[in-house]
Amino acid sequence: MSKRVVNFNAGPAALPLQALERAQREFLDFEGTGMSIMEHSHRGKDYERVHNEAIALLRELLQVPDDYQVLLMQGGATAQFAFIPLNLLPPQKSADFILTGVWARKAFAEAQIVGKARIAANVEGEGGRCTRVPTQAELQLDPEAAYLHFCSNNTIMGTQFHAFPEPPTSVPLFCDMSSDILWRPIDVSKFGLIYAGAQKNIGPSGVTLVIAKKSLIASGREDIPKIFRFKEHAKENSLLNTAPTFAIYMMRNVLAVVKEQGGLAAMEKRNLEKARLVYELIDGEPGFFRSGVEKASRSVMNPVFRLPSEELDKKMVAEAAAAGFVGIKGHKLVGGIRISQYNATTAEQVAQFCEWARGFAKRNG
Ligand code: PMP
Repeated sequence: MSKRVVNFNAGPAALPLQALERAQREFLDFEGTGMSIMEHSHRGKDYERVHNEAIALLRELLQVPDDYQVLLMQGGATAQFAFIPLNLLPPQKSADFILTGVWARKAFAEAQIVGKARIAANVEGEGGRCTRVPTQAELQLDPEAAYLHFCSNNTIMGTQFHAFPEPPTSVPLFCDMSSDILWRPIDVSKFGLIYAGAQKNIGPSGVTLVIAKKSLIASGREDIPKIFRFKEHAKENSLLNTAPTFAIYMMRNVLAVVKEQGGLAAMEKRNLEKARLVYELIDGEPGFFRSGVEKASRSVMNPVFRLPSEELDKKMVAEAAAAGFVGIKGHKLVGGIRISQYNATTAEQVAQFCEWARGFAKRNG
């Protein structure tokens, strides 16, 4: 087999090797049908089986309650920034937003185009940069809001909510979980709606997951084109139009591996261990690595840190790549280094990187 690197890309990101190998085995002749799954009709029984298995695995892993619908959509989380207010922000209502970085801000901006949106908390600093998430006490919540929206893991800023915000009882909680869904078990029933682009913990890009309370979907506006209505997608089991069949097939493969590896409890254990390793590296070399993120808000999925100079940041990115650790350059807005370590990244890989990074600090400190 050709050499595979340790891939710390932020998304699209590393996928479990077993999921890729299964795709390789099944690529030309899917289960004896004489064609690739990509060549099957999205209306045929062979594809339908894969489609329903992907949804069933997701429901099982996240223990999605029966009164929630799982939708597989397209257009990424970015399309959901618009879909959600289009469906669920009626003209007479306003929605609350917690601003914690680029993606939360984008969701807010799209909602403002559709209707009334209000800021419940904003931790953005200079240039939109954020070093923490707000506490519950900081939230100024509208008890009449159509929903409260937040982003559970801020992929660019390296911050994460470790306890979810609590909205007033009458207000459903909506969450962009693009970069931390499936990192650990969660209680779906606490949410009105959860959405996530697949390309971090779920599979390849091209499919977007939406989990929403059926009663909310049913309440959605009908004065918008059908293709934008959650209701229509739900009615057709996410086959309203041609689904991204190969992306969903890969999602099935990824979720099957997650299940085989022990499900979300096992993922949580592995992810906490990886986070421990990276933050131990950062905190262990305080003269060289600097984390700007407040400890209580540190992301398990995307730890970020800086070196003493931008030149050293660049040097580390280049030398890491040469050593087989790819994708550690921080987002251009915040600079520095970002270690994106989603479910497919093993603790062994992270430990190898940390050992290499300690050597780099010694050579350059
Ligand atoms: N939300 C979050 C938290 C993200 O990390 C990203 C992409 N990195 C997006 C939204 C946008 O996703 P997409 O490109 O799939 O629209």
